[in-house]
Amino acid sequence: MINIGKENDNHYIVDDPHVSRHHARLEKQEDGVWLLVDLDSTNGTYVNDQQVARKRVNLKDEIRFGGQYICSLSDILNQHNDYSEEFAQLKKVYDRYIESKVKIQSSNQFKIRLLQSLPFALLGVVGVALSFLDKGSPLLMTISLFIMICAPTIGIFLGAKQSAKVPRQLQYIANQFKIDYVCPKCGTFLGEIPWESLRNRKQCPVSSCKAKWINE
Ligand SMILES: [Zn+2]
Repeated sequence: MINIGKENDNHYIVDDPHVSRHHARLEKQEDGVWLLVDLDSTNGTYVNDQQVARKRVNLKDEIRFGGQYICSLSDILNQHNDYSEEFAQLKKVYDRYIESKVKIQSSNQFKIRLLQSLPFALLGVVGVALSFLDKGSPLLMTISLFIMICAPTIGIFLGAKQSAKVPRQLQYIANQFKIDYVCPKCGTFLGEIPWESLRNRKQCPVSSCKAKWINE
């Protein structure tokens, strides 16, 4: 939320005789669009020359407070630079990324081991079958011998096939992370820097951006 008016306690201070002390307010809606709300100002709030009480505004709209002070949404947002709310949301993005990365790695390690040992398990099954039949069927003996020879190779093959899936899965979540873990103002990817370290920096690492993350 951004308060607009002549008084010093506003986020966006307008020095104009026709602007009220607490003139208007911008509220960010859930869909990301800003809602401009007039706070019963003396001379009114206008969007594209129409007087409004509450109006959703975009970057192209011409906003006027009182008789003559004209500005745009980006003027207000640029001066304001407080992105603490948006930045707080990024914690979830970072935590989710790390969580799914660990999940992919550990679940794959389990699958790889399982696949590697599968042929040996099969060997055991044939062995049990042989001992039950007790007549040493030549076919089963052959199968058993065949599996015994091939088991390590098949195990390695299945394990390698599974581990080849890991980079692709990791790439997929890394790509999504690059889209989501960005500065809410300039959209620059923040890198694999933990959210806590970014918070300690208090603002966007891009020096021309100046987005502030911590409200002090
Ligand atoms: Zn930035």
